Amino acid sequence: MKELEERIAKDGTVKPGDVLKVDSFLNHQCDITLFDHMGAEWARLFEGKHIDKILTIEASGIGIACIAAQHFNNVPVVFAKKTQSINLDGEQYTTKIYSFTKQKTFDVIVGKRFLTKGEHVLLIDDFLANGKALQGLIEICEQAGVVVEGIGIAIEKGFQGGGDKLRKAGYDLQSLAIVQSMDPEEGKVVFA
Ligand code: 5GP
Repeated sequence: MKELEERIAKDGTVKPGDVLKVDSFLNHQCDITLFDHMGAEWARLFEGKHIDKILTIEASGIGIACIAAQHFNNVPVVFAKKTQSINLDGEQYTTKIYSFTKQKTFDVIVGKRFLTKGEHVLLIDDFLANGKALQGLIEICEQAGVVVEGIGIAIEKGFQGGGDKLRKAGYDLQSLAIVQSMDPEEGKVVFA
């Protein structure tokens, strides 16, 4: 998606440790016109698929997923919650996710009442790096018995391999911008 690539090139900054900072428009301050265009693009890419629900993970996925949902007949958006203490009352699907940016493992939960067996779910997130966040969401979908119809990602860092693994596993993964390489010294981002 050219508009997103141009925005990354203009306002993104490359930090050491393979981190791309896009907090002026994507995951701290939010450009909702851009989010709206991203939602329209996912709707085009996933055209013809039946989507009952969008599943994302807090925090940065929520805003993007909510705007995107407007392009999918206003389907409900469910977000997985990161938590320190799991309430083991059997009412939640749970998994553990290692966070690339925070470098720690979170327990992640989704209330069982928000995912129903047989539903068709679209996963949405802001970034795809090594794929741990999506792996966790997919695990939750497996526990719930829902069908992962597709995965929509704003920015995939292609050089970290998470996307290739998911494509090989057969998922319909649509990333709106794929970063092939980035250089913290020059601040340059190259797209695939
Ligand atoms: P993964 O689990 O695929 O390794 O990483 C994906 C998660 O880590 C995303 O949910 C996102 O919040 C965060 N993340 C990964 N790489 C970056 C990055 O370069 N910049 C930012 N801002 N977040 C990232």
